[in-house]
Amino acid sequence: MKKKIVGVLTTVLAASLLVGGNHPVTVQVDNMISGTQDDEDTQSDEAEADAAEAEEEQSEEAKVAADPEDQPAATETPKEEKKAEKEAQKREAVENSSDSTSSDEKTLLKKAKKLAQQYDYTGAISVLKNNWKFATSDKMQEAAAAYMKKRDACVEYPLENITHVFFHSLIVNTSLAFDGDSDEAGYNQMMTTVSEFKKMLQIMYDKGYVLVSPHDMAVINDDGTMSRGKIMLPEGKIPFVLSEDDVSYYHYMDGDGFATKLVIDDNGDIKCEYKKADGTVVTGDYDVVPILDSFVKEHPDFSYHGRKGILAMTGYNGVLGYRTDGAYKTKKNLQDDQKAFLKANPDFDYDKEVKAAKKVAKAMKKDGWEFASHTWGHRNATSSTAAELKTDNKKWEKYVAPILGKTDMIIFAFGADIGDWEGYTSDNEKYEYYKSRGYRYFCNVDSSQYFVQITSEYFRQGRRNLDGYRMYYNPDMLSDLFDVSEVWDSSRPTPVPEM
Ligand SMILES: [Zn+2]
Repeated sequence: MKKKIVGVLTTVLAASLLVGGNHPVTVQVDNMISGTQDDEDTQSDEAEADAAEAEEEQSEEAKVAADPEDQPAATETPKEEKKAEKEAQKREAVENSSDSTSSDEKTLLKKAKKLAQQYDYTGAISVLKNNWKFATSDKMQEAAAAYMKKRDACVEYPLENITHVFFHSLIVNTSLAFDGDSDEAGYNQMMTTVSEFKKMLQIMYDKGYVLVSPHDMAVINDDGTMSRGKIMLPEGKIPFVLSEDDVSYYHYMDGDGFATKLVIDDNGDIKCEYKKADGTVVTGDYDVVPILDSFVKEHPDFSYHGRKGILAMTGYNGVLGYRTDGAYKTKKNLQDDQKAFLKANPDFDYDKEVKAAKKVAKAMKKDGWEFASHTWGHRNATSSTAAELKTDNKKWEKYVAPILGKTDMIIFAFGADIGDWEGYTSDNEKYEYYKSRGYRYFCNVDSSQYFVQITSEYFRQGRRNLDGYRMYYNPDMLSDLFDVSEVWDSSRPTPVPEM
C-alpha cells in the first residue's frame, strides 16, 4: 500500500537510567511511531499562530473553566473519591428511604456485591449498613459480615513491586499492517495485535493480576505534598498499571488495519469505529479501551475499585480519532496529511468534532479511564529544552485539556525522562515547570520489572512495552506476565526488524 504520510520514526534512546539503583540498564527502546512535531519551521510558525490566537485563547479558557464537563477526573485522589463516594451513598440512603423500588433488598445486595467484587469492601459494607433495611434484613447483615471478613483478610501490597505495562493502538487487521510498506517495520516492533492483547489479558487475569492506578499508589494531600497510597487486596492478587500511548489514530495509520476513532454506542458503551477493507464502517472492540471494558464487564475482579487504564495523549492530530487540534480550525500550519484530511472531508465541523470528543472522554473517565499528557507534539523531553517543553505544554493545555480534562500525569513520549533514575531535584528546570503546571505523576519507559519512586513531592514509574520487539527479542523479560509463545500472533513477519 502506498503511504501518503511521513515514514516511521523509530528512535532508540540509549538511556542513562539505572534500574533499582543497582544494575546498569539496557537500551531504552522508544515505542512510538509517529511524526513528531518539533522541527524548527513548524515551531516558529506555530509560535506565530499562537500569538494570533492569543485573544481567542482568553475566551476559550474562560469557557473551559465554566464547563463542568472539564472537571479533572485524573487528578482525583482516592481520598477525594472516597469522600465523593460517601456523599453519594448518603444521598442514596435518603433517596432509598422514600423509594421502595431502589431500596429493594436485592438491588442493594447486587450493588454491594459489585463493589466487593472490585475489592471495595468498605464501600460494599456501607451501601448495606447505610440503608434503613439493614436492621431487619438477615441477608444484608450476612453479606456485610462476609465483606468484613474479606476486608480483614486483605493484605497491603508493596507499592515498589507494582509493574506498569503499556501498549499502542492495537493492530486489528494484520494483513493491512504487515503489507510490506514503509510502516510495516514500526508496527511489527512497537504494536501489539488484538489477538495478542486478548490472550495477554486472559493469562494475566488467570494469574491474579488486578488493574490499579498510580493514583492508588500515591495521593496528593491538601497541602500539596504527596503520600504513599495503600492498596489492599486479597492474598495472591497482583496489582499492575496499564497504559496505552498515542490514542489519536494518527493520519499516518489510515488504511493500515487500525481502529479510526472511539465512539459511544447505543448502549452507552465506548467502542471503536473500524473501517473494513471493503470500506464498510463497523463499531466494536477494536482497541485496548473497548476490549478491556468488555473484559472487566465479564471479570469485574480484574479491576481495583473500578480502575481501568491510562491513555497517554498528544494533541497535534487531535485526540481519540477526533481532529480537535487548533490547526484544523485555523487551517494554518497544516501538515500534508492534515491538508489531505480536510480536503477529503469538506463537511468537517471543528466545533462538532470537539463536542463529540468531549463526550467520549467524559464517558471514559466515568468508566474508570484516566488521561495523561504525552506532550502535545510527541516531544522528546530529554533532548528538548525547558522552554520548548513549556511551549509544547501550553498547546496541550489549550487544545487537549479542554477535551480530556486537566491531568496531573505525564507519560513521556519516547520514554524520554526529564531526570535520571536518582530523581528530580529543585534545580531541574523542566521538573519545576511541570510541577508548576500541576504535574505530579511521571512515567518513563524502563525494561525492568519494577521502577517506582514515591517521594513527598512526586510519583515516578517505569513502564514496560508489551510489543512485537520485546516479545521477539526478550521473551524472558515478560515471563512474570505471560509465556510469549502462548500469545504470539503468527501472522507477524519474522524476524521482527531490529531497532
Ligand atoms: Zn508515544
